Amino acid sequence: MRRSIVAGNWKMNGNLEVNAELIAGILKEKSSAQGIEVLVCPPAIYVAQVSGLLEGSDIGVGAQNASAFESGAFTGEVSLPMLADFAVRYVIVGHSERRALFAESDGQVAEKARAVLLAGMTPIVCVGETLEEREAGGTLEVVSRQLRAVCDGLDADQLAGMVVAYEPVWAIGTGRTATPEQAQEVHAALRALIAEADGKAGLEVRILYGGSVNAENAAQLFDKPDIDGGLVGGASLKAKDFIAICSAAA
Ligand code: PEP
Repeated sequence: MRRSIVAGNWKMNGNLEVNAELIAGILKEKSSAQGIEVLVCPPAIYVAQVSGLLEGSDIGVGAQNASAFESGAFTGEVSLPMLADFAVRYVIVGHSERRALFAESDGQVAEKARAVLLAGMTPIVCVGETLEEREAGGTLEVVSRQLRAVCDGLDADQLAGMVVAYEPVWAIGTGRTATPEQAQEVHAALRALIAEADGKAGLEVRILYGGSVNAENAAQLFDKPDIDGGLVGGASLKAKDFIAICSAAA
């Protein structure tokens, strides 16, 4: 039995005041979403603030990105040990915005995912196709290539311990969600790919859907057998909507 996860990706939004209000709202509403893992991923500069606000709660803190290097001459980067100092347990790697806007390659995403696992944290590995790739019939080929790059060289425990997020690029921030059937098809293929490497890991690995998830469409998506929760962008910035999505996964 896989425990569902709902993770809020705040992207580059928020400030001290807005974050405090959002966390207060989430903590107030949270009782309707028992039994699942809930986490929020603020911008790196606010990780310390949000970790402090969530201390003593069962809501986790994730980072949106991290360096694969431990320390040194990497101006502007944030390392995994730095994030661990502030109770970060999850790190999103390979978000499509990082791949498209910051030219992160499959190889770099794989290095980051490995570094996160070696640091004893959980990578949320994002994969997803563009609209052109989907329309050309290349969806499964693209997401399989992206996931294979990460899985190569991981042992069974590492495969089972990571979290995968299927996020079709055309659905992110567009209001256009994949249908539950479209998402399920890809999730099943991603699970099969991991099961090829290790059958038990295939059963255990959690695969989230992301891309315009909202309070109205979440339940239908999470109802599918291979969808274990969601990675939520825009709708994670409103406490009521975010908790409604979490409740749909509970
Ligand atoms: C995301 O940023 O990972 C995401 C899925 O965004 P949105 O929910 O806004 O589409």
